[in-house]
Amino acid sequence: MEKYDYKVSTDRKILETFPGVGRKTANVFLSEFYNYPAIAVDTHVERVSKRLRIARKDDDVKIIEEKLMKFYPKKDWATRHLQMVLFGRYYCKAIKPNCENCKIKDYCRNK
Ligand code: SF4
Repeated sequence: MEKYDYKVSTDRKILETFPGVGRKTANVFLSEFYNYPAIAVDTHVERVSKRLRIARKDDDVKIIEEKLMKFYPKKDWATRHLQMVLFGRYYCKAIKPNCENCKIKDYCRNK
């Protein structure tokens, strides 16, 4: 707290030095708290990106983040991130996704 004058930094590199904070958490914090354009790749975003062929099956989270940043306009990053999280959490679940009613199944590897 004293080191940073009781302010939470907006510098990703500083945030990532805190215990338990990696790139994903730093991205979520920066986009939610400071409205900074970022795409955090959590387990839902990773799964949906791979199923929808935005990413390859063997891509790691850093590569997926880079592909998503190219795929979507910067102004939409925070919104798209949230949409992908919610789509993955409630619809395109890891186990038993709701493919039968999926409106974007034509883009999916699993169709
Ligand atoms: S078809 Fe199924 S697996 Fe593919 S995106 Fe839709 S819900 Fe997900």
